[in-house]
Amino acid sequence: MLFEVRYSDLAGRIGKIKTPSGTFETPAFIPVIHPVSQSVDINFLKKLGFEAVITNAYITLKQYGDIAREKGIHKIINFDGPIMTDSGGYQVLEYGSIEPEPSFIAQFESDIKSDICVPLDKPTGYGLRHEVAEMYVNETIKNSQETLNLTRSNNNGNSVWVGPVQGAEHLDLVKRSAGLLDEMGYEMMALGSPVQLLESYEFGILSEMIAALKSVVTSKPIHLFGAGHPLTIPLVVALGCDTFDSASYILYARDDRYMHPNGTSKLDKLTYLSCQCPICINLKVKEFLDLERDERIDKLAKHNLYILRSEVLSVRQAIMDGRLWEYVGQKARAHPKLMEAFKLFMNYEYLEDGTPLFKKKAIFLMDTIDQYRPEASRFRKVFNSFSTNKKKLVLYPDTQVSPFYCSQEYHKLSRRFSDYQICAYNPFIGIIPAEISDIYPAAHNLISRRKYEFGNSNEYPTFVNSLEKFLSNNSFDDVIIVADEFLDSILRDLKLESKIKTYKYTDDIIEHLP
Ligand SMILES: [Zn+2]
Repeated sequence: MLFEVRYSDLAGRIGKIKTPSGTFETPAFIPVIHPVSQSVDINFLKKLGFEAVITNAYITLKQYGDIAREKGIHKIINFDGPIMTDSGGYQVLEYGSIEPEPSFIAQFESDIKSDICVPLDKPTGYGLRHEVAEMYVNETIKNSQETLNLTRSNNNGNSVWVGPVQGAEHLDLVKRSAGLLDEMGYEMMALGSPVQLLESYEFGILSEMIAALKSVVTSKPIHLFGAGHPLTIPLVVALGCDTFDSASYILYARDDRYMHPNGTSKLDKLTYLSCQCPICINLKVKEFLDLERDERIDKLAKHNLYILRSEVLSVRQAIMDGRLWEYVGQKARAHPKLMEAFKLFMNYEYLEDGTPLFKKKAIFLMDTIDQYRPEASRFRKVFNSFSTNKKKLVLYPDTQVSPFYCSQEYHKLSRRFSDYQICAYNPFIGIIPAEISDIYPAAHNLISRRKYEFGNSNEYPTFVNSLEKFLSNNSFDDVIIVADEFLDSILRDLKLESKIKTYKYTDDIIEHLP
């Protein structure tokens, strides 16, 4: 089996991809290696834990031709682990005058024993009109079919062939091309080519593209071309990208850009090097700037690789901890465009599929976006099928004692209101009937209360919806609501029937209820 998933959270997956030159763990950052003028020693990358690399088949063909066919790509770039080859569609687009035949490139990738191969595609980039983008997609699809015909008739090797999904911001095209490549039998998909999108920080559009692809291809591994910014890694992993490549480490270094966990800075604008990698620990900013250019680029590129590596490991740990949502949220606060992308998560129901039904840790609920986390949506689905035959209702603020039916408040309420349906409520999760208050995450969440004093009904539509539905489905004869400041502000916006009695929450309110 090509791809084995061990753990997941949201659509992020810890797994293994199997290739002829060995397996590697995902999510993985796959550094771009230049087949002719690689500047950072490839052994350094290997030592740092990058188990797979990507290089360019088109440049390799132009530079080495038959020598590469003879020696194989592993000897050419001096790497014995899994190697992915990009067909060079992007280079053809940028510099090429005569386009090589797709079958010729495919045969070459096969001859040089690439482990993961991409057919010659025509990258849509960003900003093309729909008709033009569609033409590009059609051409890529045609090439991909020709490539598969060739590799199947040759029956050569165990290389993994990756279907290049194009279409850019035209999501219908992304879906169509993903569907066709999936049907053809491609075992892995690669989403191209978001470089321009990422350069303009259009993380929202990128998220929509990944979600469109994931709506068609759910279990096969997904590669994302050209994503090497430390900020975007948690986002794209959470949305379902298993591998992603980039040359950012060296490109940024040539531009004197220093990566840090939340972005990049020009080296000469820094006062301190906050990183403690083996490069930075021995240098002050001035010493770094005073290095001779080639050495500075080499050291800066290595530092950038440490940052990328550390980011990938942090994301993997977040998946293991069941805290990927929290981690993406934390990153989202580093840039407004990333926050914009994070807010789109409310539309992506597929994030529920990879989120465990139960987590060892409580989820943190801090911001209105958190009402949409998969665990909360899932609880509301359980709640929607909950029915009660009691004709009276008490609503009480979530005590944060887990579960609610173990709290003192519940015991007091059930003694006084024995024929009432007793429910807690939580701004993010909704209404929590005592009977199902031990279901995850009703009993396993932490909320920060004070922030929600000024909540209004527009900001908590999931809550308002649950409350209104529950009241209208059950036609209770008597409703007692103990309203904390959150619910109080919500109720101000709602028209409640007169039989509903509301009492302001105080510590001893239960003793004072009629
Ligand atoms: Zn460093």
